[in-house]
Amino acid sequence: MAIAKPSADNSNPDKEVALYAETDRIHPRKVKGTFRTLKWWSMVLFLAFYHLAPFIRWDRGPGAPAQAILADIGGRRIYLFALEIWPQEIYYLTGLLFFAAVALFMMSAVAGRVWCGFMCFQTVYTDLFVAVERWIIGDRSARIHLDRKPWSADKFAKKTAVNLLWALIGASSGIGFTLFFGDAFQTLTEIFTGEAGGAIYGTIAVVGGCCYLLAGYGREQVCIYACPYSRFQSAMFDEHSLIISYEAWRGEPRAPARKGQSFEGRGHCIDCRFCIQVCPTGIDIREGNQLACIGCGLCIDACNGIMDRYGLPRGLISYDSTVNIAAHERGEKGSFKLIRPRTLVYTAILTLVGALMVVSLAKRTTLEVSILHERSPLYVQLGNGTLRNGYTYKVLNMIREDHSFTLGVDGIAGATVQVVGAEGEGLDVPGDSVGTFRVYVTAPESATKGKTTPLYFILTDKRDGHVLRSSALFAGPEAP
Ligand code: SF4
Ligand code: SF4
Repeated sequence: MAIAKPSADNSNPDKEVALYAETDRIHPRKVKGTFRTLKWWSMVLFLAFYHLAPFIRWDRGPGAPAQAILADIGGRRIYLFALEIWPQEIYYLTGLLFFAAVALFMMSAVAGRVWCGFMCFQTVYTDLFVAVERWIIGDRSARIHLDRKPWSADKFAKKTAVNLLWALIGASSGIGFTLFFGDAFQTLTEIFTGEAGGAIYGTIAVVGGCCYLLAGYGREQVCIYACPYSRFQSAMFDEHSLIISYEAWRGEPRAPARKGQSFEGRGHCIDCRFCIQVCPTGIDIREGNQLACIGCGLCIDACNGIMDRYGLPRGLISYDSTVNIAAHERGEKGSFKLIRPRTLVYTAILTLVGALMVVSLAKRTTLEVSILHERSPLYVQLGNGTLRNGYTYKVLNMIREDHSFTLGVDGIAGATVQVVGAEGEGLDVPGDSVGTFRVYVTAPESATKGKTTPLYFILTDKRDGHVLRSSALFAGPEAP
């Protein structure tokens, strides 16, 4: 695509410049150091959790799933260890997600893009896929060389091996995903014996395919162009947030150097470009903070290695705050400031949401009702002059024992209740299920207050006498 655009010097305003430029494939170079080690550990923990968590067992009694973390689509339930979330309680999940989002904001305000650099699945799988390439083809120069070479048997064999291993990793990520949605042991057996349903194989294909394409071919493009979080993440930073920065005051003027030479009157950057070669997004951090920097710290490892080799102090590229970098320039030490308005606000939100969730979980009942008033008609006038309203009355029995209840009404003098199909029998609700009943309430018109009269349903457990009182409205004609 090309478009007429004035050139910078205005000498040729009709010159066409391309708005689309093909990017070169980035082949990060191997590096050793603290951040690289942290990234390996982060990858191991992530993959261990992802692939082993579905196999953790949790005893919920007979007849209940024994998987600690399970999204039971068929049973319309989410299990998180002792917590069991019903569709009616989806607000717990909303609370958990909100808490996680604010925790992520807090993490960014304190430690910059630490999520992107170390914990995001895109980073983890890209790292793993690059490790596979390095293992089969070799380090950066070997991979660049192979890419530039014309197709040969050797190139074909290596590329095929890399892609097969990527596909295998992709498939394992797809399989790992499905294990969170059914009994892990049973699902795994069914997958490998060909007995799993089409939905499971379809999910493996979609998740595995995305993993293969995004980590194998999308890579840094996903972080730079597709990830919405990278776009607004900088809004959570302030001058005390830790970010990856090149200390230009110390590095410039840069110039190549020989070992043992004096650095008097020049900068410490020897312009070796090692920091660029190890960067998974291929940027030059010496040009300043950039959206493409995922905060992985590999350029720090690279540069520290160079500084060690030349007997110079480490930290030319540092993981520090803007305030501290300015302090270093003035010859001061700098310090880390954790308590500041931004972190206090995030802490307050986290505490509030956390407390609300703990309180609501502590007060969580195992019995709930939902009442839906029939709309058409709102009421019926019977032959004897009384009014009748219809309701759909649902009882959520959230424990695994069958329960039997009696239902009564209160609030309107002379009102009576009738459960359709269970006259005089009470309401029987099997364990771990929702009982749905059609209920009629009849009341003398003289006891009602026109269009709506408050009414209370009284549900009493026949076994222990536990009472649940729920409010509703009784509809009638407008008072004359
Ligand atoms: S690794 Fe360090 S010395 Fe080498 S170019 Fe980067 S900043 Fe300069
Ligand atoms: S500039 Fe450094 S921290 Fe940023 S992505 Fe590249 S290597 Fe990672």
